[in-house]
Amino acid sequence: MHPLVSLRNIKKSYQLPSMEVPVLQGIDLDIEEGEFTALVGASGSGKSTLMNILGFLDRPTSGRHLFRGKDVSLLSDHDESRIRNLEIGFVYQSFNLLPRCTARENVALPLFYRPQTHDPEALVDEAMRWVGLADRSTHRPNELSGGQRQRVAIARALVGKPSIILADEPTGALDSRTGAEILELFREIHRQGATILIVTHDRSIAAQCDRSIEMRDGLIVSDTRP
Ligand code: ADP
Ligand code: MG
Repeated sequence: MHPLVSLRNIKKSYQLPSMEVPVLQGIDLDIEEGEFTALVGASGSGKSTLMNILGFLDRPTSGRHLFRGKDVSLLSDHDESRIRNLEIGFVYQSFNLLPRCTARENVALPLFYRPQTHDPEALVDEAMRWVGLADRSTHRPNELSGGQRQRVAIARALVGKPSIILADEPTGALDSRTGAEILELFREIHRQGATILIVTHDRSIAAQCDRSIEMRDGLIVSDTRP
C-alpha cells in the first residue's frame, strides 16, 4: 500500500521582484493513514508553506508530491480541486469563518460543492455534535468565544470526512486552557481513526502526538515517535 502522502525532495521558493526566496530546501516525508503528527519549528522555518503544499493550496517549485501514490503534478485542475475538497480538511489559526453565516452554514460550506451528497443536513448535525456545539448552530462567529469558533472550524474540516486534517497553529490564537481543550478534541478525532497533521509552537502539544517532526530553515531536522 502507498502512504497517504509522500513528499520527495520538495523545494519551494517564492519569487519576489528583486530576488528568489528559497523556503523549502528538500523535504522528504511520508504520512501514513491514521497518524497523528505534530510539526514544530521556529517562525519562518517553512511550516505553513509545507502545509499549503500538503493541502493542495500551493505547488512546490520542484520535487515529487504523491497523494495515495498518485503524482499530484499530473492531476488535472478538476481532479486537484476534487481531492482538495473531498480529502483535505484545513484548520487555521485565525479560524477563517464567514462572519455573516451561522455556525451551521459555515460547517455546511464544503458540502455546498458536492451537490451529490446524501443527506447533508445529517452530516452537519453530526459534525456539530462532534465538536460539542449542537446548541450553537444559529450563532454567528462574533456570538461565539474563540474556542467555540475554532470548534466550528474543526466541524467544517470534519464534515466531509476527509482523509487528512491539516491544522496550522490551531491553538495559536487561544489561551492555554482553551488550546488544551482544542488539542483534546483533535485527540478524540484521531481516536476515531482520522489522520491529523498539526503545526504547533508548543512542545507539550507535540509530546502528546504519536509523531513529532521538527523543521529548521526549510528542512526536516528530526522525525521521532515519542
Ligand atoms: P512558518 O509557517 O514556519 O512560520 P512560512 O512557511 O510561513 O513559515 O514562511 C517561511 C518563509 O517564507 C518566511 O521567511 C517567509 O517570509 C517566506 N514567505 C512565506 N510566504 C511568502 C510569500 N507569499 N512570498 C514571499 N515569501 C514568503
Ligand atoms: Mg506559519
